[in-house]
Amino acid sequence: MFLSKPFSPLAQILSRIIHQNSDHRSASVTPPAVDKRQVGKSRGQVHLIGCGPGAADLLTVRADQLIRNAQVVIYDRLVSKEIIDLIPASAERHYVGKAPGNHSVLQSKIGELMVSEARRGKSVLRLKGGDPAIFARMAEEIDALNHASIDWQIVPGITAASGCAAAAGIPLTDRDSAHQVRFITATHHADHLRHDWSSLARRDQTLVFYMGLEALPSISARLQKHGLPADWPILLIENGTRAEQRNLLATLGTIVEKTQQAQFQTPSLIIVGEVTRTAKQQAIALARAQEVA
Ligand code: SAH
Repeated sequence: MFLSKPFSPLAQILSRIIHQNSDHRSASVTPPAVDKRQVGKSRGQVHLIGCGPGAADLLTVRADQLIRNAQVVIYDRLVSKEIIDLIPASAERHYVGKAPGNHSVLQSKIGELMVSEARRGKSVLRLKGGDPAIFARMAEEIDALNHASIDWQIVPGITAASGCAAAAGIPLTDRDSAHQVRFITATHHADHLRHDWSSLARRDQTLVFYMGLEALPSISARLQKHGLPADWPILLIENGTRAEQRNLLATLGTIVEKTQQAQFQTPSLIIVGEVTRTAKQQAIALARAQEVA
């Protein structure tokens, strides 16, 4: 009886309040700390900008305009030279490329740097490779800015998966063979062993592994152990969309040896699945790509 009754207006309001309070993000975000000394002073702003996979003409128009008018730029290792060259000579530049395994110390320094520059009233550009919302520690940086009550905005960019797939001439989904696409972190020192490998080793999806070059032998072995065949196609793309792009199309059974022979370096992206079968061995986005035998 009670359950079948429609919700009363009061019950609806109560339910909404309970729902709002149980919202994960709003509960976990640190409330911005207000620095009373700064109230009324002119404050800078930070733009967290995705710079795409490398080619400067794959920047969004918004990112391009902001970069060409930059005052202070804080940038990562994955932001290409072509894009760095767009920054005006008058701008202050801070390189904060991270050494692998050294994330936590540097991350806090990046936060401090963004905050101190913005507090000088500067417009600060925080440039990141690809999209700032994908494997780019955006949440930590936003927390630091919120904590200091600094205004910020996000400018999305083309993530490596989209850029590399385009440069290899393949789709990431397909009506027949790939009903979903999964972006997976595979840093060698982190948690790739904790993935649910049986759910990854399915034939009806595309897998995209970021930061996976060192873990490639383990990725290939685990996918086979959990059911994908040794002749399942896998594509490795080094420096996707850049002049020096290399593509390597192989199978789970052959990829490790072929990669070692060809001496692939970071940044490299791994794409696994049926969609890769038609990949161009030669990059199509830019003409100067080098073919791997
Ligand atoms: N925020 C970025 C990802 C950062 S993680 C994005 O959205 O693309 C860094 C990893 O991204 C690299 O280790 C590599 O796996 C991948 N990557 C980034 N740029 C790449 C490129 N041009 N070619 C191939 N892989 C790339």
